[in-house]
Amino acid sequence: VVTRVDVYDSVVIGAGQAGLSASYHLDRLGIRHVVLDAEPRPGGAWQHRWDSLTMRDVHGVADLPDGPAPGRSTDRANRAVPHWFGTYETQHGLPVLRPVRVRTVTAGGDLLEVRSDAGTWLTRTLVNATGTWTRPFVPHYPGAETFGGEQLHTHDYPGPGHFRGRRVLVVGGGASAVQFLGELGPITDTLWVTRREPVWRDDFDENSGREAVAQVLDRVTAGLPPASVVSVTGLALRPQEQAAAQLGVYDRRRPMFSRIEPGGVRWDDGARGPGQPAFEPVDSILWATGFRPAVTHLAPLHLRSEHGGIPLLPGTADVQTAVTAARDPRVQLVGYGPSASTIGGNRAGRAAALAVRRQVTRETVRPA
Ligand code: FAD
Repeated sequence: VVTRVDVYDSVVIGAGQAGLSASYHLDRLGIRHVVLDAEPRPGGAWQHRWDSLTMRDVHGVADLPDGPAPGRSTDRANRAVPHWFGTYETQHGLPVLRPVRVRTVTAGGDLLEVRSDAGTWLTRTLVNATGTWTRPFVPHYPGAETFGGEQLHTHDYPGPGHFRGRRVLVVGGGASAVQFLGELGPITDTLWVTRREPVWRDDFDENSGREAVAQVLDRVTAGLPPASVVSVTGLALRPQEQAAAQLGVYDRRRPMFSRIEPGGVRWDDGARGPGQPAFEPVDSILWATGFRPAVTHLAPLHLRSEHGGIPLLPGTADVQTAVTAARDPRVQLVGYGPSASTIGGNRAGRAAALAVRRQVTRETVRPA
């Protein structure tokens, strides 16, 4: 374990889309920094996506700054994106160190101390780009521990073949649930439950995208936990989901159950809906219930508001996204809230680098 005695102008935590974009822009601004990434290899969360997700199935991967993304193809996303990130890191000479998992970030005087299993870094500013993949979220339902079948989360989706011959309950109203049902529906018996009635939209365009991001932006500047993007964009079926749709897979949807039992799930009388059975036997429960921001290592900085989210300062006129932590402007959060997409991560990377420059310059010109 090493303690770095030199002080960096910035430390970026995470080398996914958002972290790489931030590092690229920091480099262009001549800001001395290092990128610490927990993975043994390049690729951010993409290296963990399931094998059946191809570059044709992804919703769209935006270019990195000065680094065009791989196109639509039948290549596996968990190979194509990591390969692209790896090449990008090398071509641009980005200072990525791995594997380095950051455990805590603390504030001591003017400096931030970034502690990891591989050493401690001192820095004037921090760009947090840790994504969400390491924090899968499963809501609590009574009886979950008594279930005799298997429970899996999106994080561990093993591909459709694994579920052949099983009755699968898919939980969640987001894009992953829609995608899983598209793959599973044609080969096995599925049932879908969601907390809210899904909102289907096939008129989603750039303008609606901007509106959706603006809604999430409002939430984080108010200090609320970021909403899932789908809760503001709505869902759409793509050609690869049509076979399942024709089989009525998306129509066999029910509201959330009340509890889990050893052989399946049960609805209380008020919850089950007219004419619906009170109990459904299932072999597998697939929780497509999303992820939470991976920010527990920032807890010692006390960045959260009483509403549970990390409030961000509104963006400036030239950078219309929010990245700066309201409670400590030395800390930038990229890939968080309004920037939790590949396109948002890029934009946030630039905004973070500019904010870091403002912080570092301010410090340098401060009278002794
Ligand atoms: P990540 O890619 O998750 O990178 C974060 C990095 O930080 C990882 O390498 C991680 O190991 C590292 N890290 C985490 N904690 C620590 C720590 N404590 N110390 C050190 N390193 C750490 N968005 C799109 O725009 N298009 C899509 O098609 C799309 N598909 C998606 C599919 C799924 C199943 C999911 C879950 C999300 C999808 N998204 C998509 C959203 C996606 O999360 C973002 O677009 C983007 O990949 C996130 O990039 P990121 O840089 O914020 O995080």
